[in-house]
Amino acid sequence: MKKFAACLLIGLMVWCSMPPSVWATGLELNTQADQRDLRQWQPREDGIVSLNGPWELYWNQLLTPGDFAAGSHADALTVSIPAQWKSYTMNGQALSNEGYATYRMKFTLSSEVAGQPLGLYFNNVATAYRFWINGELKQGNGTVGTDKKSMVPRNYPKVFFFQPRSGDNEMVIQVSNFSQRTGGIWEGIDLGDAEEIASLHRNRVMVWTFLTGCLLLMTVFSLFLYIFRKQEQAALWFGLICLAICTRSSLLGESFVYVLFPGLSWEWGVKLEYLSEIVTILSLAAFVNKQYPQEVIPRLFPLFVCALGMFGAFVLATPAKVYTLYMVPYILVLLLPAFLYVMYIYIRAALRLRSGSRTNMLGFLVFFATVVHEILYYTGIVSFGGLVSFGLLFFLLTQLLNLSLLFTRAIAQSEMLSIQLSKVIESQEETIRQRTSSLQELNVRLKQGNEELSRIELVRSTLLAEVYHDLSTPITAIKGFSKAMKTAVIAKEDAPRYAGRIYERSLMLEKLIDNVIELSQLKTGEIQFQFTQVPLLPFLRQLSYRYAEEAESQKIALLWEEPQWVLPPSKELRVTLDRFRFERVFANLISNAVKYTPAEGTIKIWAEFRPNDHSDTGHVVIHVTDSGAGIPESELPHIFNRHYRIPSTETTKTGSGLGLAICTEIMARHQGEISVTSTMGAGSDFFLTLPAQLGNFTADTDPINEGGAHGNDHSAD
Ligand code: ADP
Repeated sequence: MKKFAACLLIGLMVWCSMPPSVWATGLELNTQADQRDLRQWQPREDGIVSLNGPWELYWNQLLTPGDFAAGSHADALTVSIPAQWKSYTMNGQALSNEGYATYRMKFTLSSEVAGQPLGLYFNNVATAYRFWINGELKQGNGTVGTDKKSMVPRNYPKVFFFQPRSGDNEMVIQVSNFSQRTGGIWEGIDLGDAEEIASLHRNRVMVWTFLTGCLLLMTVFSLFLYIFRKQEQAALWFGLICLAICTRSSLLGESFVYVLFPGLSWEWGVKLEYLSEIVTILSLAAFVNKQYPQEVIPRLFPLFVCALGMFGAFVLATPAKVYTLYMVPYILVLLLPAFLYVMYIYIRAALRLRSGSRTNMLGFLVFFATVVHEILYYTGIVSFGGLVSFGLLFFLLTQLLNLSLLFTRAIAQSEMLSIQLSKVIESQEETIRQRTSSLQELNVRLKQGNEELSRIELVRSTLLAEVYHDLSTPITAIKGFSKAMKTAVIAKEDAPRYAGRIYERSLMLEKLIDNVIELSQLKTGEIQFQFTQVPLLPFLRQLSYRYAEEAESQKIALLWEEPQWVLPPSKELRVTLDRFRFERVFANLISNAVKYTPAEGTIKIWAEFRPNDHSDTGHVVIHVTDSGAGIPESELPHIFNRHYRIPSTETTKTGSGLGLAICTEIMARHQGEISVTSTMGAGSDFFLTLPAQLGNFTADTDPINEGGAHGNDHSAD
């Protein structure tokens, strides 16, 4: 892209450096010395001729073709054009550039040429003229007069067409000048085929319109840039440069500004030309100052503003005739230093490898070259001028290239930043989402914890009240017995019996305290369970054997009944339980069964497996069935409540009423439950339901022979 832009610029540069005649027609001018005899001239083949002369010049006379026909005219000077009047001499003295004169020339055409219309291209004639071709008056430009008041200056290229005659053709031109530093026909008059002259004019107008249009577009672009982004002051100055050059270009060349604004006087046109130059050079200096602030020489710019501002005021205050006299010092003393300053900044920036400085320098060098060319043109060393506007256009294009690169980079950078930003925002959002969700989780956990704490607190306070109630009965009894013994209310021989009762109550109290604490810890969740997988049948078999002895001491038979159902080969029934806590339940059931079964009775331990459909999982039901007194049906719903004891049974007095409540809690923690069925007089069947599964017989399950982790405590009740 950069290379393409560079090629475009070089192309433009080459195009700009071509002479104006080549842009326009591609034809070379016929510049033979004497154009009076043009009989050999074929307009279409030989191209345009410059009517350089020789011309007759009648100084300070405004003559018409009629005067010449009447022979009433004085002696003439023989001159050639283009030239200023002051370059002619009369009686050994140079003519003045101010004055009026009549030019006359006769040129001979062949009869062949006479058939086709011809065109005349008048370049700059200072500063008003009218002419006759073969006696026919053409308006020319401005109004010719014999003094400043009677004439109206107008000075820009014009085209005229006429029908030539075979043989002699007479051209009479009246010129007057009281306004400009230069006077007379100081740029040539071209004669050619009408179509060719028209096309030359059209092409030149097109080139200058193109130039002005480009500059106007750049002006609008830059000024908009500044309006939307006030900190881009470089854009403001750049816009002003473009506007000033645009104004100057519309005044120079084909000067189409006079066509657009016919009311614009010649005086104001020239003023505008000078003022636009001043604005250009000042804006250029300000522009480079903004472009390369580190290279600026601080005091120079105000100096330029003062000097050029003063000259601008001088231009506004005086007529063109006066200030144009100072053109050379103005160029050398005012414009050139400002130019050199700009160049100095660009060279320094290029040496310091500042961004875009090389393109800038290249553009400025081309511009500078065209300025030098323009100076050479005005001093008469080169034959054509007007390149300076194109040099400036080239320079401005390099600036535009830099500006575009700058913006492209800025946009690319901002795009990159916005992508990065959106990524950061995305990750931030993700973090916020995660944090919010973990905060929500924490909140839920805190809420649960809070609820748990409130529940524990409630359990504790309830327990405290209950414990107080539970303990008060045995304590009251102990207090009563011991007081009676102390105060000798009871006979001495009865003392050991009462002491025995106190001891019994103390034991009961101890058990009660243990049970209360255990139940309270179970309810608050303080007790940690250690679950292991246990092969059920060997475990139950072993427990039964262990408790058989206790039953036998009460003359009760405790029997383990092997199950009738058969497990699949190499499979075993497993349950997940905390050995110690489960044995606590088992021991309580055996203890109750022993307590409520008379001597010679039996207690049977047996188990059944209720598998889920087509599955290795299911439930086991472990039964402790006694042949005791049984429990009335009305009492069954209550016996698992704490402290519930069936009234009117003698044996209940020794219990705490907490055993089955503890069992219910423990079974609940095993995802199981405890239930009872009973028939009065026949006995009770307490059964425990637990989740179980069939597993391959392996040695990785908890070996039962090692016993519970907490020992064989079966003094539950
Ligand atoms: P206790 O310490 O009083 O035995 P439990 O909670 O263990 O407390 O039992 C509650 C009540 O259930 C007992 O008081 C008793 O009346 C009744 N009970 C428990 N087991 C049996 C049983 N096997 N036969 C008859 N009644 C029983």
